[in-house]
Amino acid sequence: MEQSYDVIIIGSGPAGLGAAFAILDKKPETSILILEKGTTSSGGLRNDCKMNFTFPIGFPEDNWTREEAEVYLEEVSRKLTPPIKEKNNLTIYQKRAERLGSALLNIRQAHLGTDGGLELIHNLTKELESRGVEIRTGVTAGMAGLESRILKTTVGDFSFRKLLAAPGRQGFNYLQELMEGLGIDYVDHVVDVGIRVETKLENYPIVKDYYDPKFHFPDRVRTFCTNSGAAFVVKEKYTAQDGRSFPSVNGHAWSERREQNGLVNFAMLKTIRLTEPLASGQRYAEMLGLQADLLGGGKPIMQRVGDFRLGQRSKVASFNSDLFDFEPTLKGCTPGDISLAMPAKILRSIWKSMKILDTIIPGVLHPSTIMYYPEIKLYANKPAFIDQNFKVKDGIWMAGDGAGTSRGITAAWAAGVRAARGILEEL
Ligand SMILES: Cc1cc2nc3c(=O)[nH]c(=O)nc-3n(C[C@H](O)[C@H](O)[C@H](O)COP(=O)(O)OP(=O)(O)OC[C@H]3O[C@@H](n4cnc5c(N)ncnc54)[C@H](O)[C@@H]3O)c2cc1C
Repeated sequence: MEQSYDVIIIGSGPAGLGAAFAILDKKPETSILILEKGTTSSGGLRNDCKMNFTFPIGFPEDNWTREEAEVYLEEVSRKLTPPIKEKNNLTIYQKRAERLGSALLNIRQAHLGTDGGLELIHNLTKELESRGVEIRTGVTAGMAGLESRILKTTVGDFSFRKLLAAPGRQGFNYLQELMEGLGIDYVDHVVDVGIRVETKLENYPIVKDYYDPKFHFPDRVRTFCTNSGAAFVVKEKYTAQDGRSFPSVNGHAWSERREQNGLVNFAMLKTIRLTEPLASGQRYAEMLGLQADLLGGGKPIMQRVGDFRLGQRSKVASFNSDLFDFEPTLKGCTPGDISLAMPAKILRSIWKSMKILDTIIPGVLHPSTIMYYPEIKLYANKPAFIDQNFKVKDGIWMAGDGAGTSRGITAAWAAGVRAARGILEEL
């Protein structure tokens, strides 16, 4: 006989945790099981953990109005009690950006760093456990039965009254399988494709005034996820629908308590929404990832701005010469030519935005600055939600980054709380 729970939550990222707290706050007697395929808990809260508390950062506007997001953000803020960072000299940068047809958004931000994020996760999961939630790590969820209300997992079957799937971006293939298996309609979703830029702090000093400056440029290009102080570029691995895998880059920083390395990294992303008759943004992004994988010999590609400007590939020597005065923090990349791998339209938009950024903050296009490719944000095809609270079928909800209802920690938490509202109405 399988164990049975009122609510099973797949994924212990911010969406899953936010949902669990919201349910317990209203109905403390609810039995909740959180399943996490990783060996530790809490998905993307682990990485850098900068939290943005201003709409529209992280909130896809087809799911959230400003008013809705603000109500939920207040609740997120009450739970996570973020130490909001000060910003300085904002209007100087804002005016420069405006003159160039771009914008610098003024966002309330907190930054815990990866070590601070780990402490937060520890405290949150301990609190949930003390309130009766069972958290099982190292367990991968499989298919769910609509009629049977049974969830298959790698350690056996569990029965549920309500199910919330919040498996994050890396769970996009799993969500796709769930949607197909359960007959949930879906629509194609946007993808974000771009590069990660790494440079010395002195070339991008704005981060001393504004930790994660959010610039929006023409052609749907934006800066995203800036890290500084003790900042590192990292590699992630994604698996395409046909089973092949490709690397994508990302970035994080440790808190201010750690030794600083004087570097900054941030993403420059272009959002792409394909329309009929082009099939799938997700498949397109996978093809780009696989192409980069081929050109990089299974590794991300990196190129110095100095080489890019001269129209030449970077070589191992490009990273040794005296002009190139810092080491890439992501080891094991292939020096090469990102313009061989990136479609012209994306490259043109991103390079134009880089030039605008260099006019706002002179220095960021120093020849030693490194561009890593690819940085791809994949989301599952978006479920056709049947109500405002991300319900997809009777007894089943999908929320968080994977389901396309968020693009960041605070919005993922808010999406989990919103799904919990729907679940609570039916418990
Ligand atoms: C390196 C890096 C740095 C980032 N930095 C920031 C930042 O500073 N600020 C910010 O706002 N956002 C940041 N993000 C994005 C942020 O992590 C996500 O927006 C957020 O975590 C999404 O929350 P989620 O709950 O939807 O999914 P996730 O946090 O991804 O959690 C989903 C969890 O589900 C688990 N899972 C997946 N499939 C299954 C399955 N079949 N069975 C069981 N478990 C499963 C996964 O292992 C994962 O732990 C960063 C992401 C990365 C990768």
